[in-house]
Amino acid sequence: MAEKYLNFVGGRRVPARSGKTFFNLNPANGEVLGEFPHSDAADVADAAAAARAAYPSWRLTPAPKRAEILFRVGQRIAERKEDLARAATREMGKILLETRGDVQEGIDMAYLAAGEGRRLYGVTTPSAMPDKWAMSVRVPVGVVGVITAWNFPFAVPTWKIFPALVAGNTVVFKPSEESPEMGHHLARLLEEAGLPAGVLNVVFGTGTDAGSPLVRHPEINVISFTGSNAVGTAIATEGAKLGKRVSLEMGGKNAILVMDDADLDLAATAVAWSAFGTTGQRCTACSRVIVHEKACDEMVRRVVARANAIRIGDGLDPATEMGPVVNRRQLEKVHTYVGIGAGEGAKIEAGGAPAVEGALARGTFYRPTVLTGVLPSMRVAQEEIFGPVVSFLRVANLEEAIEVNNHTPFGLSSSIFVGDVNRAFRAMRDLDTGIVYVNHGTTGAETHLPFGGTRGTGNGHREAGHTMLDAFTEWKSLYVDFSGRLQRAQIDNN
Ligand code: NAD
Repeated sequence: MAEKYLNFVGGRRVPARSGKTFFNLNPANGEVLGEFPHSDAADVADAAAAARAAYPSWRLTPAPKRAEILFRVGQRIAERKEDLARAATREMGKILLETRGDVQEGIDMAYLAAGEGRRLYGVTTPSAMPDKWAMSVRVPVGVVGVITAWNFPFAVPTWKIFPALVAGNTVVFKPSEESPEMGHHLARLLEEAGLPAGVLNVVFGTGTDAGSPLVRHPEINVISFTGSNAVGTAIATEGAKLGKRVSLEMGGKNAILVMDDADLDLAATAVAWSAFGTTGQRCTACSRVIVHEKACDEMVRRVVARANAIRIGDGLDPATEMGPVVNRRQLEKVHTYVGIGAGEGAKIEAGGAPAVEGALARGTFYRPTVLTGVLPSMRVAQEEIFGPVVSFLRVANLEEAIEVNNHTPFGLSSSIFVGDVNRAFRAMRDLDTGIVYVNHGTTGAETHLPFGGTRGTGNGHREAGHTMLDAFTEWKSLYVDFSGRLQRAQIDNN
């Protein structure tokens, strides 16, 4: 029997006004997990009103006090880590090892954001006038709308919600319809840690029926979005028309560059982990291996061996190394892309088909897939697949490798395996991505560094790190003139 969940509005748990619901499913076996409100514009309006009503008092709550709640949330998440990780694995499929990491990222983010409560630094600077004081401070923007993807169902909402809250904003959160249960748990943890009613509100539902009204609602000042480029671009367009601040974290087409002097064993292990971890469904997943021609055949051999050895199954089984794809639509998309690659002339060296033996037939599993002979212009080298598929592109030297890396619409993460320190630094300088790793795969960002991408991956914002407050604060400049006379800035300063 599926558990019933409710929206969280103004501190109360309420159904959708329409009474409609939807279910979340376990992608490993099709089991129905929970029943959630299928919210629409009326529910979003209720949540926005609750967030607006809670704002004046939350804004004036001292930041260190706001931060203490986040600190307590971090402690509570840590106490519940295993249960939360299991719930995340059931809901979106990735293996327990990885959902534990997802939850840990939420703990890290809670402590990082809590620390900001006793910093929230502004800047003081001398005035050009005598007897005048000048400084600038961060102030909250108002009500923040948070819309997230399902692949990091716990961590990604915390990157947005915790900094927004510590800065003094209130929030309306719409989790992905593929991972609503994790949204419920996050709200419950904040409530238990003492967050006042209305400061965080959660509406469950689809992008069209709940996400889009959230973007359009006049009480929502900022939209912080993580998801696909198609949806992010539409939100940015709508946000521009309405004069809203929109912060976007979108797709990737991330590459690992492997040079001829690299440690090939380490590089192959990193490619397998970056490409097939989370079943390739990370925004930072390695989707391309751009490899020096002298190392290419050996790298293909090693990665194919690793791909064929990966144990596929239910992520709750400790023996499993790769879980299912999130749903049937995504499974079909992945398989279509493999077909497109083959049609363009790529060779399928491993995988290339759904995995359906025995119990796997009940879920949405796809074999780890390796394509070779891929050229930079092919669709499989340009478009985000978001599944366990990696393409090998052969190059003659570092310069060509960098050019190929930079020749996609996305710029999230890249990595290089190389022995020569000079080439490593050239790559760090010239790879056009928001994150660059040296002798490490394309995944594994830490919360205390800025996270985000160049070009089509984002719109210039960075989450987490020392940049975490930027999307959620305005700068206010303050001048205090204690001269007792009218001083007219540049006019009197000659
Ligand atoms: P998606 O764009 O389909 O959905 C993301 C969210 O947007 C969901 O909550 C969805 O309900 C909502 N949504 C859909 N249509 C909407 C609309 N018209 N208006 C408002 N909201 C709407 O993406 P997804 O399939 O959930 O996630 C996969 C994508 O997310 C990939 O492209 C991946 O690269 C990206 N991603 C990026 C990052 C990052 O930090 N850069 C992190 C994780 C995932």
